[in-house]
This record gives sequence, structure tokens and C-alpha cells, in this order.
Amino acid sequence: MQDAQAQLSSVFGFSAFRPGQAEIVEAVAAGRNVLAIMPTGGGKSLCFQLPALMRPGVTVVISPLIALMRDQVRGLTEAGVVAGALTSGNTPEETEAVWAALEDGTLKLLYIAPERLASSGTERMLRRAGVSLIAVDEAHCVSQWGHDFRPDYLRIGELRRALDVPLAAFTATADAETREEIVQRLFDGQPPETFLRGFDRPNLALAFEVKTNPRNQILSFAAARKGQSGIVYCGTRAKTETLAQALREAGHTACHYHGGMEAEDRRVVETRFSTEDGLIVVATIAFGMGVDKPDIRWVAHADLPKSIEGYYQEIGRAGRDGAPADTMTLYGPDDIRFRRSQIDEGLAPPERKAADHARLNALLGLAEALGCRRQVLLGYFGETAEPCGNCDLCASPPDLFDATTPVRKALSAILRTGEWFGAGHLIDILMGTDTDKIRERGHDRLPTFGVGTEFDKRGWQAVFRQMAAHDLVRPDPARHGALRMTEAARPILRGEAGITLRHDTIKAAPRKPQVKM
Ligand code: ADP
Ligand code: ZN
Repeated sequence: MQDAQAQLSSVFGFSAFRPGQAEIVEAVAAGRNVLAIMPTGGGKSLCFQLPALMRPGVTVVISPLIALMRDQVRGLTEAGVVAGALTSGNTPEETEAVWAALEDGTLKLLYIAPERLASSGTERMLRRAGVSLIAVDEAHCVSQWGHDFRPDYLRIGELRRALDVPLAAFTATADAETREEIVQRLFDGQPPETFLRGFDRPNLALAFEVKTNPRNQILSFAAARKGQSGIVYCGTRAKTETLAQALREAGHTACHYHGGMEAEDRRVVETRFSTEDGLIVVATIAFGMGVDKPDIRWVAHADLPKSIEGYYQEIGRAGRDGAPADTMTLYGPDDIRFRRSQIDEGLAPPERKAADHARLNALLGLAEALGCRRQVLLGYFGETAEPCGNCDLCASPPDLFDATTPVRKALSAILRTGEWFGAGHLIDILMGTDTDKIRERGHDRLPTFGVGTEFDKRGWQAVFRQMAAHDLVRPDPARHGALRMTEAARPILRGEAGITLRHDTIKAAPRKPQVKM
């Protein structure tokens, strides 16, 4: 590893390894099969670039993004490393130079786009080239259920078998199913040495806010960071446009970005973002992989992301330079409903849907965390941590209360009305409100009618939102979103378990009717 340390500074100009890098570099350089799960911005490229220099022959790097490959080749070339890429973006001269370097045995890193694997010539060429290592970037692209699926990634396992060389796979996606799929498809089911490291990004401040007036919440968050580069993620394309407009009207430089735009227009935004200071991009998650700007100072979510992995990847784009960066995520009952129905209405098989609900639950658990958010977040990724001092809940610890009784009242209102109603009507029942719907249905004769005197309407809304976040209730799309009880709620209803909720979010619940953006 002395060699590694020396090349780290002489070639890459870094004085020390980041957390996790040294062990991964050692394993990869030693020729062991490796799966490394590292967060975005954690420094995974070094974990195959450095071993490539320590091993004989050529390292083949498979990556889904031509722009990233070209960036890395440029960086390596500037550092004096012989590297090249074979992609559809090549000029004939570039391709010629790559072939020449392969022929004379000087090439150390060869980046190839996954599409190249489909041509039989590629394997033949690589067999002759003296490949000693295959590195796979964004290895989760091999997962058919992920939204980054790349069919050509399925050929990588075949290539590994044909070349019979070690393979190192890298991804930022930590969930167990994706990991299992990577092991099956890239390593033929033989578990590689697995590293799960460095998920903590201590420079990222974490915060969540309950949506009250989302447009104003985003505007005031941005106003406090005027002149800094930031990203606002939205759940819909339309919202990226209206929110970018609102930010411009508030005096910011802002533009929108989504998958429905012309490729050329998107490229303009990408280029502006990486070259201008203080631009805000309001985007769907289409703006993501390939954004390689180290000094993004903040990321805000105007809508709840779809999973804890998505959340982590998106906030992880901020502060890659290691300097402090702020993140803030808005969420409310509508988000929970939206994300649940997205999963339920999708085409995935039932096991996959259950896993997606679990990933959403993990994010909701983080949104409604009772203590330090970083502990909850890192806990999900399998790491333990002390309270971080850099999240909103460390800054002002939430006021907790034993909510067992009110939650049981709410569950019983759900059951006594046959699981056919949404939170609004259930709250009317609990509060004993006199409405036509209550009288028509005879709900004023229920034993739960009027028993919920402990909270006002806002208070009950917050209780229902937290119940949904703890997955005690779920909206049923087949019943127009009526709330149904989950298995997790049974012990509470039966009096076998209690539940603690947060009081602060109840007090902070909306005063005015929700304003839609
Ligand atoms: P990702 O894991 O998202 O692929 P990169 O490999 O692009 O991340 O690394 C993110 C940033 O961290 C890059 O700017 C890279 O130069 C920097 N970096 C990587 N390793 C180190 C290190 N040991 N010391 C300092 N900076 C590093
Ligand atoms: Zn904390």
C-alpha cells in the first residue's frame, strides 16, 4: 500500500484517502472481486483508477455516461495517465489513438460504453488487449427494477467470464435487493468482498419541514442563500417551470430542467450550471447523474422523494467539495399519498412493490424522526453514529409525547367506518363535527364520535400524517384513497404496543389552507 499512498499524491494530488477508499483500493489492487457501495461524491472513481495503475495491463471501465467517461479520461490524461474511451462520441482520430495505445501496451484505463459490449468485436479485442481488471461504475444499472436499468449491463457478467479477470463494481444504491441483483448478474451469485463505507457526509446539514405553503417555504430557503448555486427538486415537470419563474421573480437566477425538454435545451442548462456561479436549477430527478459540480451549496426538495436512496443521492449532490452545504426537504400528507399510489399503480411484481413501500417508509421515518436525522439515515445504510449536531432535530430536539391513546382513537374510527374514509372525514368524526356527510352516514351515532377532544383539526391532521409516516395506515387506491389499517397498527389497537409521536409538528401544522404550487 506504500505504492498506493505514493501514487495518491503524485498522480492524483490528494494528501489522504477518504473514509473507505484505502481498503477498497487495497482489495481491488490485490485482484479480489469487490462490490463497493459508496455515496455519490464519496470518491469512487479513485477506487478503480488507482488500482488500475498498480495492476499490470489494462483496466476496462464500464460506465453509463459518455460525458462522465470523457471527463475522467481528460482528468487522467492531464495527470499523465494513459487512458482512453471508446464511445459513440469519439472522433475517428480519438478511436485510432485508443487502438494504437492498446496495441503498444501503454494504455492503462480503457473506458467503454455498455453498448459496445453488444458487438462481438469488443470481446475479441479485449481478449487480446491484456485486460487485468474490469471496473463497473453505477453497477445498479444492471438492476431491471431500478429506473436506471441499462440492458447492455446484463452482458458484463459474460465479459467477466470470458476474460476471467477480477471485477470491481461500484454503486451508490444501498438497498439489499439491488445488491443481491448485482451479485447475481455481475458475479454469477458468488458474493464478492463487499464494502459499505463512508455514507456519512458530515458537511451536509439535514432538515425536513412539513409543507404549509411550499412556494413560500422554498422562496425563503433560497432567499437565505442568495447568490449560491442550488438545486430544487420537484415531483412534476410543470412545477419545475412555475417554481423557476417564482424564483426569478424573487430576484434569483433560476432555470428549469426536466426530461421533457429538448436535449439541446437541457445541455444548455447543464453547461450554465457547471460554469456559472449562483444559478438555481429547478428540476425533476432527470437532473442528476452526471452533474459533477463540486460547489453546489444547497439542495431543496419541494416534494418528497420516492425513497430514502433517492433522497440521499439527491442531497448528496450538494457540498462535494467538503465545505458546508444545506439541504431541506418538504413533505406533507399529499406527498405520502402520491408516492404510495405511484408504487401501487406501477407495473412491478408484488415483492418489488412491497420493497418500494419499505424504502418509502424508511424515508418517511426519517421525515418524522424522533431524534438526530443523521443517526436514522446512517442507521438505514448500516452505519452507527453519534448525534450529529448538524441537523434540524439536533439543533432543536423535538417535543415527544405518548400518542398511544389518540392513535387508538383514530384507528378505531377507521375500523368502525369500514376503512372507507379519508383523514378529513375521520377527523370530523373524532372531533364531533356536525356535517351533512356525518349525519347522512349516521356517523354521529358511532362511539368514537366526538371523543377526540385533545387536538384541534390541525393537530389531528398531524397525527394522521405521522400515522401514515409510521405506516400504520395506508391510502387504498381502490377506495379513492380511503385510509386502511396496516398490520403494524394491530398491536397498538389491541393495547399490546404504544407509540410516541412528535408534538412540534402538531403545533407547526398548517394554519391556513394548503396553498398548491
Ligand atoms: P463519485 O463517488 O460520485 O464518483 P468522484 O469519484 O467523482 O465521486 O469523487 C468526488 C470528488 O472527490 C472528486 O472531485 C474527487 O476529485 C474528490 N476526491 C476523491 N478522492 C479524494 C481524496 N482522497 N481526497 C480528496 N478529494 C478526493
Ligand atoms: Zn443530528
